[in-house]
Amino acid sequence: MSPWYAKLVFFLGVIGMAIVRAPHIKRSTAIKVVKSRNDILDKALVAFVSLGLVLPLVWMTTSAIAIADYALRPIPFAVGIFFFACGLWVLHRSHVDLGTNWSNTLELREGHQLVVQGVYRRIRHPMYVALLLYGLGQSLTLPNFIAGPSFFVPFAILVAFRMRREERMMLEKFGAEYEFYVSRTKRLVPGVW
Ligand code: SAH
Repeated sequence: MSPWYAKLVFFLGVIGMAIVRAPHIKRSTAIKVVKSRNDILDKALVAFVSLGLVLPLVWMTTSAIAIADYALRPIPFAVGIFFFACGLWVLHRSHVDLGTNWSNTLELREGHQLVVQGVYRRIRHPMYVALLLYGLGQSLTLPNFIAGPSFFVPFAILVAFRMRREERMMLEKFGAEYEFYVSRTKRLVPGVW
């Protein structure tokens, strides 16, 4: 059984994500793509991540995965809400900083600029950090061992496959400028890794 407050947090998260992303998606997709590495692997991984929406809906509307339910406790629930909020905030900041250079996949757009400011100043993948935090939020607030981690796990796999390929694409495009950027930033955790 899915408690109403877990459902409420899930829908607020989905709506929050849509509100943060919609204007940027609209703006950046209007700009021509000049290089794409959107291959079958990346497409398959993006499709895999959509389980993070599908499985919670299955959990809420059927009893198909009710076997994996557990009792929701206040502290993990509160921590989950905190992660959700942090994730949405960093997602908003990274979209603002990346501007029209954003893509849902591995692409370079016309007039692509290397962004090194704002949330990109210390780490190279703040948007992925934001979505991982969002995924942890979902894991802690949906009391079901399948629906809960259904976004975090596929997304972490996508990030593991994508980061190096994305960095290789950026290095080919921006050369020494990107090398210098890499030398003074970390991937996901400021000052650590
Ligand atoms: N990995 C970044 C961006 C995710 S969006 C993050 O997590 O914040 C993916 C697209 O952003 C890539 O296709 C690439 O074209 C673009 N991109 C990644 N890092 C960038 C940067 N520092 N400046 C400009 N564009 C960047």
